[in-house]
Amino acid sequence: MRPYITWLRMPFVLSGTYTLYRFISSQLQRWYNPVMLSRERVYRTEAVVLRRQDLGEADRLLTVYSLDRGKLRLVAKGARRPSSRKAGHLEPFTRVKLLLARGRELDIITQAEAIETYPGIQGDLIRFGQASYAVELLDRFTVEREENQTLYRLLINTLERLISGEDPSATMLFYELRLLDQVGYRPELFRCVGCGEEIRPRDQFFSAADGGILCPVCGPVHGDARPISLTELKVLRHFVRSPFQVATSTQIRPKIYKGVDRLIEDYVSYLLERKLHAPDFIRRVLRMKQEGVEPNKV
Ligand SMILES: [Zn+2]
Repeated sequence: MRPYITWLRMPFVLSGTYTLYRFISSQLQRWYNPVMLSRERVYRTEAVVLRRQDLGEADRLLTVYSLDRGKLRLVAKGARRPSSRKAGHLEPFTRVKLLLARGRELDIITQAEAIETYPGIQGDLIRFGQASYAVELLDRFTVEREENQTLYRLLINTLERLISGEDPSATMLFYELRLLDQVGYRPELFRCVGCGEEIRPRDQFFSAADGGILCPVCGPVHGDARPISLTELKVLRHFVRSPFQVATSTQIRPKIYKGVDRLIEDYVSYLLERKLHAPDFIRRVLRMKQEGVEPNKV
């Protein structure tokens, strides 16, 4: 064989040898490392449990919000059996590390280890109601498998704030406004949604259908618009623009919170086209407390 032909062939020989080497080494890795073999079937994530339902005889269907995959619906096999080791780690509001196996329709929880259980939430009816509202909102405004790490952090910060003595009204208002912002429904608070004029410092109107403030000229001609005081508008603007510590450093009277809460709740209900369950629950508990009835612990 003439030498120049051999040299011409060299690149093919080398690339063929390299391909063979890659093939053999990948096979060896698969053989020695079972994790490689199952990489496609098993994955890890961190999530907060939003809600759970019974499934079949002993299983549970869980809706969680995960750090890197957004909302997921998962099956916890055998979680209702008293002997289940997973069950205690999968209570609502628990922040948990999960090992998941891909299923045909729903993925399956194979391991669960709680990172934070927020014990102060389960022991107090009002906090429980507020946390329920927080997870209900997140559940209703998100679709499955759409990652949003800002929303995940907002949720765990809110659960933390509910048990660490932060003002609960401020905590919840901040949560609602940030969540609405993240899911694309931040109310317009700076320009009239009717005529586009800049909103001036005076009492105005708010329209859920139009998604924001209406000036005193446009407000009365929009059927669904409701009055909003200048103070309420200032509170909303302050919360939309400020980080949590700044937003909550201002003293706000409970009456103002009440008005703003109602307004945001109506806006959220309008967007979801269905009345939310949790705010009614919170109001019932508060009324019982005002009437001197001590609500049972949950
Ligand atoms: Zn206007």
